Amino acid sequence: MGCPKCRPQYIKALKSYAAPHLEHLCGDCQRRYETNPLRLLDCKNQQCRQIMENAPVLRDMLCPDCAEHFTRLQQTLELLEIPYTLDPTVVRGLDYYTKTAFEFVAPGLGAKDSIGGGGRYDGLIEQCGGPPTPAVGVGIGLERVLIAQEAANAT
Ligand SMILES: [Zn+2]
Ligand SMILES: [Zn+2]
Repeated sequence: MGCPKCRPQYIKALKSYAAPHLEHLCGDCQRRYETNPLRLLDCKNQQCRQIMENAPVLRDMLCPDCAEHFTRLQQTLELLEIPYTLDPTVVRGLDYYTKTAFEFVAPGLGAKDSIGGGGRYDGLIEQCGGPPTPAVGVGIGLERVLIAQEAANAT
């Protein structure tokens, strides 16, 4: 998700990529283009997905601080043997996220395999009037965890 240093540049690049395609994007995306352009990346509409497939990727435009943080995060995941895939469409729609947003997936849930997700929000506490505080949070879909658990026990 970058940070206040690198994200504005990315949003500029994203908007100039999307601008010539605007009339072919769905109504929601045409609104998001103005209000929350990052959401263009996670639209479920087939035509929007096709257009945004070739959009610039934030990972390629991170500032040195975010890039180093992301490299260290991936090294740590590998060290802990936690398998992961990089998905530039996981933007989670909330612009308070910084650096990394993530989703947990589990087998046995079909196409919508997410059981929860979250991310860092290093600027949020400050935005709410507190001192600068790094933070991370996660939301879990309990029902989906139970379904995944059942599926795991059945196999
Ligand atoms: Zn940054
Ligand atoms: Zn759309």
